[in-house]
Amino acid sequence: MTRDEGEPSHKVAPFQNGIQGLEAGLCATLDRPYGNAYSFLPGKIHHPGPDEALVRLDYSGVCHGDVYGRDGGGPAPAQPQRPLIGGHEGVGMIIALGGNMSKHLGFEPGQTVGVAWRSNVCGTCDACRAGAENHCSSQKIVGMHRPGTFQHQLVRIPHSLNGAATCPILCAGVTAFAAIRMLEPEAGKWCVVAGAAGGVGHLAIQYAKKVFGLRVLAIDGGNPGKEAFCKNEGADEYVDFVDAGEDLVHIVREKTQGGADYVLVLSPVQSAYNAAGEFTRFRAKVMAVGIGNCHMPLRPILRKDLTIRSHETGTKKDIEDALQYSASGLIRCRIEVLKLNDLNKALDRLKGGQVQGKLVLDLRS
Ligand SMILES: [Zn+2]
Ligand SMILES: [Zn+2]
Repeated sequence: MTRDEGEPSHKVAPFQNGIQGLEAGLCATLDRPYGNAYSFLPGKIHHPGPDEALVRLDYSGVCHGDVYGRDGGGPAPAQPQRPLIGGHEGVGMIIALGGNMSKHLGFEPGQTVGVAWRSNVCGTCDACRAGAENHCSSQKIVGMHRPGTFQHQLVRIPHSLNGAATCPILCAGVTAFAAIRMLEPEAGKWCVVAGAAGGVGHLAIQYAKKVFGLRVLAIDGGNPGKEAFCKNEGADEYVDFVDAGEDLVHIVREKTQGGADYVLVLSPVQSAYNAAGEFTRFRAKVMAVGIGNCHMPLRPILRKDLTIRSHETGTKKDIEDALQYSASGLIRCRIEVLKLNDLNKALDRLKGGQVQGKLVLDLRS
């Protein structure tokens, strides 16, 4: 435990709440090259800049994006930023604010807020001007480019959201929700969710079913418990891709009475994209969420006039809309709560595809 005793006191005065005397706890910190485990090191209290807030975190979700922060690949930069605290699904309370946060954005100390994937966007690029700041070409990512939410301490955030105990919505949920909404789906049609039992997948089943009125076929595999899990989330049909083997395409077409109208590919594996091209029907829409180094075969796109899209998490508006469905109780995230020092094990389980629903760290213990 450390205290930020080196800071001159005049720096604290402009904040609405003083932060003197606050103690930082342990931070899960990446301090070695990609592929090495987190270390648990004492943290430090940071003073918020004019556009930032200090938040005392209670919980942080653990996302597959955090595997990249530790082990490289995906959206992680070629040269890892070290030291780095990962995590981007934090929920906590505002302790102190920089001046602009209250003046221009209406936040107050004591509010429960979320710390999500994206911390900074430029506001001036083509994507930002189009209201799609989730595609900002110079965005900064929490837990990748700047300190994240795996810590028993305060973190700075540039903007925040209402909603307690909704960590997984801040990344997994909004990713699922925005991806389906972008497909402009027609109720009653078939949506296939490939990689359905994970954090994004189980929420995708719920949004597709409960918000958009779609019929849902869930694909996952490797664990017999996943069928009951997906059906409990609302899936009408389930296909175990391991059991189905080469019959996967045939089985999906049969169960969807001719093919999928919409496909969410959440698994970053090439075989999922190959299969999606084949089990879609004419003019279906495919949303690539789990990208990895995959490609979409062109032949079925031409043959069936498919629409292929991709989507990066969601905008702030998408997050706020997704949170509303949680606030109303319509969407419920399945959570397994762990302690901060379980983080390396949690990431290994995620990497191995062994998690149903979401893992969330309780940062208060
Ligand atoms: Zn994430
Ligand atoms: Zn931008």
